[in-house]
Amino acid sequence: MPKKLHTTLVNDTHHSGLRFAKRTYLPRIVGLGTGSFCVGSVMIEHTTPGWLWLLLFINGFIWPHIAYWKAKHSSAPFRSEIHNLQADAVFGGIWIAIMGFNALPSATIFAMMGMNNISAGGKSLFFRCATAQITAALALLFVAELPFQPQTTPFQLYLCLPMIMIYPIFLGNVTYRTSRKLAEHKQAIMQISVRDGLTGLYNRRHWESLLSNELESFRRYRHKTTLILIDIDSFKAINDSYGHSVGDQAIILLAQELKQTMRAADIIGRFGGDEFAAILPHSTKLQAKRAIERLQSRLANNLFPQHPQLHIHISAGIAECDDTQETPTQWLNAADHALYEAKKNGRNRVEIAE
Ligand code: GH3
Ligand code: MG
Repeated sequence: MPKKLHTTLVNDTHHSGLRFAKRTYLPRIVGLGTGSFCVGSVMIEHTTPGWLWLLLFINGFIWPHIAYWKAKHSSAPFRSEIHNLQADAVFGGIWIAIMGFNALPSATIFAMMGMNNISAGGKSLFFRCATAQITAALALLFVAELPFQPQTTPFQLYLCLPMIMIYPIFLGNVTYRTSRKLAEHKQAIMQISVRDGLTGLYNRRHWESLLSNELESFRRYRHKTTLILIDIDSFKAINDSYGHSVGDQAIILLAQELKQTMRAADIIGRFGGDEFAAILPHSTKLQAKRAIERLQSRLANNLFPQHPQLHIHISAGIAECDDTQETPTQWLNAADHALYEAKKNGRNRVEIAE
């Protein structure tokens, strides 16, 4: 793999790992904070040593910040965050054993952590963490010979309510924001895949797929549809005399003028280089010719205040759809041939395919 591509991929993985750690940070603060009240509600009803209260405090209120700091400064943040989630699960198991499997707080901790893990890493992370949690809980219960006390008192129930009520709403909001971001990314990728980067018009591939649709539509509804190919005259000379960036500006200006001239339903694309194409549904070849003449008169205005002598001239080839065009390529070839004639006959003119 080329070194640059490899570095880019490594950076992308690093950034997505950091984003993952950031997404998990707030849910962990809320989850472990409210979870401490569940565990505390059981510990307070038994004689609990001070060091265990300290451990609960550290796990509930300090650990979320350590976990985030650890992932943020890791060379592999994603892996580090997965380890954090597994550590959360093991701690959860320890608290479940210490509570003697008290039914409501234990089930609450198991369910909330499970919900978080399945939303963060799917079924595989859920099963991995659930197994670690249950194993830790059972091991500690047997090794330390802790009492099994599944009954839940009303006091313990009330202290579980913050976690039961707040955490799912919080996690739902995080999940909603993530799915919104994904939808936005999908939309942006869609735009990139169908649009030309310089002008924002349709790119050639997408425009050609729309041309096929229009040909189908013509065959079915028999409405007049006309295709125009446009090419800037002597564009190489513009690049050579004024520079490539003025050349780019000329392409952008022509795209803008095209959009202004055509109707909203017309389908305009950039074919690449200085070549553009437009499909005019419900339009005859004469209407298309008039549209190009309107465009030419707009282009006669002084579009480049910094270069008053610079004017864009265009040639165009027009082909109205009829039954001789059996494929989109044939239709396109007819317009291309007309464009060739326009160039051959002196440029800055329009020719119609017969
Ligand atoms: P003709 O009248 O026969 O069309 O002559 P021309 O000089 O316009 O020739 P042609 O259409 O073949 O030249 C297109 C040129 O456009 C070639 C290339 O250097 C230039 N070009 C292609 N893409 C871009 C671009 O994105 N920006 C700029 N500035 N120039 C481009
Ligand atoms: Mg040209």
